Amino acid sequence: MKRFLTLPNAILAALLAGLVFGWIAGATRLLERFPGLNEALSLGGDLFKQLILMVVLPLVFFSLIGGMMGIGDPRRLGRVALKTLVLYALTGALACTIALVFVNTLVPGRHVPAETRDQIAKDYEAQQKKLVAPLAGEAKEAMRPTFWKFARSLVPANVVDALARGQMLPVIFFALLFGLTAATLSGTRRDRFVDLVGSITEVMIRMVGVVMKFAPVGVFCLIATAAASLGLALIRPLAMYCLVVVLALAAHFFIVYGGLIKLLTRVPFLQFCRALRPVFITAFSTSSSAATLPVNLECVTRRLNVPPSVGSFVLPIGATVNMDGTAIMQSVAAVFIAQLYSIPLNVPQQLAIILTALLASVGSAPIPSAGVAMLVLILEPLGIPLEGLALIWAVDRPLDMLRTVVNVTGDGVAAAAVATMEGEDVRYVAEMAATAESAGA
Ligand code: ASP
Repeated sequence: MKRFLTLPNAILAALLAGLVFGWIAGATRLLERFPGLNEALSLGGDLFKQLILMVVLPLVFFSLIGGMMGIGDPRRLGRVALKTLVLYALTGALACTIALVFVNTLVPGRHVPAETRDQIAKDYEAQQKKLVAPLAGEAKEAMRPTFWKFARSLVPANVVDALARGQMLPVIFFALLFGLTAATLSGTRRDRFVDLVGSITEVMIRMVGVVMKFAPVGVFCLIATAAASLGLALIRPLAMYCLVVVLALAAHFFIVYGGLIKLLTRVPFLQFCRALRPVFITAFSTSSSAATLPVNLECVTRRLNVPPSVGSFVLPIGATVNMDGTAIMQSVAAVFIAQLYSIPLNVPQQLAIILTALLASVGSAPIPSAGVAMLVLILEPLGIPLEGLALIWAVDRPLDMLRTVVNVTGDGVAAAAVATMEGEDVRYVAEMAATAESAGA
């Protein structure tokens, strides 16, 4: 009996209970009739998300400094960085290609009559405008991801400002440089510093463990509110679009990630998935790669035995730039909207979608719905009507939950693969052993 009462099982049960409760609440308009209950549920969900987000930056900061002191040799860092970026670029390109194969073969736009299209676009016009507004005019230029802007944004002029704004990449840059420089300290000073940073990181990871004890409640609240607000009537006309996104996400997850884990690590894919189960559930319920990062760091280092020197580098960068699930949704959505408005797209235009979807996914913030807003950058240059965004928006919540799972899994795959390539002993550490280890036993 005790075996089944583990925390991951309790979280899974909360997820299912949240789904059922949310659906019933949606169908009976329960939350509209009892606004207090609605407030309580959204408060529970928000507090859980904020509790995890609270740990993100200090955890990344200190684990990266500790990791870099462990790596010591900048050449090893260069190797790890190169392998990580190659993997991220490769999986991103494969994700867009898979998406285009599915959307061109199944042609989901064929299944939506023009009247339905216009009706949904009209109903969701306000939301669509809200999405497009921040991307209009000068703001659009500011958000458009370019290499030059990206390179410039890596180096913070003021690291406290970058920390306060939660800008991950400049913080990572500072921590990398700090850690590598700290590694050059000598003797007892270095040892004492390593010890201090190690202790702070350990406290942060234990805090994640403490927060996760509240996960059953947090997950229930998040899922219940999401399921209650899901417009099932809308899903029907857009079912084919949702199906194509889900199929492409599943193909990427099982074929690309399953293949890479088989090829590049010695861990069976099923065990890899078992190790990452809390990560899947957190990503699914929060729809945020950023909020999932601490859980991912904990699982990858504790349950897959990836050394912190690799995990603390690969995962935060991945959470910010590697979003295969988002790239899949954006590629499918761009072609789907073109199909809805009978705009034919030739091969060079589809290749342009792969490129811009890659850039747009890199530029998407690791928070809920960010990927839809960035779609503007793909649609506009191809002359695809922005009204189509309203349709995507209408059914985006459940798809966001699923693509966030794919986004964070891609980071875990890269961490396991890079660590194995670096000669580390990546293996599945059973749940009990991992828990005992994190409890300091
Ligand atoms: N919610 C996604 C994430 O955090 C981003 C998106 O596609 O909207 O990874």
